[in-house]
Amino acid sequence: MVKIEIAPWCKGCPVCYNVCPAPVNVFELVDGVPKVARPEYCFACGLCAELCPAKAIILEDYEKPYHLPFGERVKSLVKKMI
Ligand code: SF4
Ligand code: SF4
Repeated sequence: MVKIEIAPWCKGCPVCYNVCPAPVNVFELVDGVPKVARPEYCFACGLCAELCPAKAIILEDYEKPYHLPFGERVKSLVKKMI
């Protein structure tokens, strides 16, 4: 199960919204600012957290520890896709 939140120090740039590759975007824009709207579609790829310039994405994946290095997470995702 994935827990994803945006911290109060979010700058509102919409990088997380723009990069989310989930089949249905986890974020939606409210007055141009991303909010977590559909957390059930998050598969913990970590892109939003990795690219957020304010480090404001709080992401925990209780099944696959999120603290794997970014490259390892991407590799494991790619393996599942092919
Ligand atoms: S990328 Fe980070 S700073 Fe930008 S809107 Fe998303 S959470 Fe906020
Ligand atoms: S971790 Fe990946 S799937 Fe989940 S919200 Fe961030 S970019 Fe989208």
